[in-house]
Amino acid sequence: MTAAIRFHSTRDSSAAIRFSQALLQGLAPDGGLYVPTSWPTLDVQALGRETTLPAKLPTIANRLIAPFVGDDALAPKLPDITAEAFNFPAPLATLDDGLGVLELFHGPTAAFKDFGARFLAANFARLREPGSQPITILVATSGDTGGAVAAAFHGRPGINVGVLFPKGLVSPTQERQLTCWGGNVKSFAVRGTFDDCQRLVKQAFVDPELRQQTQLSSANSINLGRLLPQAVYYAASSLEVWKKTGEPASYIIPSGNLGNAAACIWARKVGLPIRDIVLAHNANQTVTDFLRNGDWRPRPSIATLASAMDVGNPSNMERLRALFPELAQLRTAVSAESVDDAAIRERIRTGFERYGQIWCPHTATAAEVYERLVVGKRPGRWIIVSTAHPAKFSEIVEPLIGRKVPVPDTLAKLFARPTECTEIAPELGSLRAALSEGRA
Ligand SMILES: *Cc1c(COP(=O)(O)O)cnc(C)c1O
Repeated sequence: MTAAIRFHSTRDSSAAIRFSQALLQGLAPDGGLYVPTSWPTLDVQALGRETTLPAKLPTIANRLIAPFVGDDALAPKLPDITAEAFNFPAPLATLDDGLGVLELFHGPTAAFKDFGARFLAANFARLREPGSQPITILVATSGDTGGAVAAAFHGRPGINVGVLFPKGLVSPTQERQLTCWGGNVKSFAVRGTFDDCQRLVKQAFVDPELRQQTQLSSANSINLGRLLPQAVYYAASSLEVWKKTGEPASYIIPSGNLGNAAACIWARKVGLPIRDIVLAHNANQTVTDFLRNGDWRPRPSIATLASAMDVGNPSNMERLRALFPELAQLRTAVSAESVDDAAIRERIRTGFERYGQIWCPHTATAAEVYERLVVGKRPGRWIIVSTAHPAKFSEIVEPLIGRKVPVPDTLAKLFARPTECTEIAPELGSLRAALSEGRA
């Protein structure tokens, strides 16, 4: 029997921990990201035979994630966890010319981050011993993450959530999603920038006073428990293409912190029929430049229309470098392209004209990369990954397509809720006070 899979930091492979420890810790103590000590190989032939179309996500999730959970205490609970987390579909739409669009926006907050957030929450709920100290999840957000995490943890006993966002710097739609929860979710409008929010969360983690009151945990995109479940929709969609055509699928992924892309790479690594992986970036070109000239130069982020990808220092690059230490290996594994706002706008317009598709700015970024890199040059089964519903970005999309974007029921329900939030100064003392307010 091969050794069970454990997880070690990207910066130190000497100490390995179990699945549930890696989830609870989020970031490794040395600042690194958790990666598996070894890789399982899925029996893809068998999985393909067993899979009936449309593929059932919980079934595929069980098969894909079980080897990573191994003999962890959560192992017997995995079927319940996946049934709860994957309770909405990820359909693969096919456009006229055979191009696929993987729709990841059918969850409660209409963005792909619902998959990771719901899986993490389902695990956390089962990790907590009844009657034990409450867990407090702190999340700094500039957009979609906070909403997805709040939705996933809302109403869970023994788990509190603090969402920190920069006051006045998120869109009205986003702010509503961050502040409409109440109960165990507290929203903090920080008088500062997103960087201030992130700094506050980091300070909170090492604050002895807060750590005495509560067990702090993070739910940001570097958490292993958010990354692994994202491999599931790549598994399901690539199996679907493979069953229908006998060919592997290639993906174009709207990318910021590279969590979604890392999940796709992991899916390919365990044997799923995936060929090319292309990273679609907006004007934030750190990754594109690096692949071109080998110079890793993180920089402040630039505001773009595809705001959830405004990242100047993508954290999951560390996981990619762990898998592909040499630049040449990384260049074989992925390619990348950057798209400016004008091209995003134009692609939203033509996507509607040509296909009747309404794309959010992130999805349009990937569609533009498809046009530039792929059409006529690299045949194959291409899939554009659609990361958010366009109704979340109606103020951008509607003028371009000249009509209203229909709002899905899930979002309409959120928009109808009352909102509440506490304004705080960008100082740890203010966060500490606000967190303990109203707590017994
Ligand atoms: C977060 C997000 C992205 C970027 O995903 P990463 O995993 O950070 O690369 C793309 N599109 C949308 C809509 C997002 O919310």
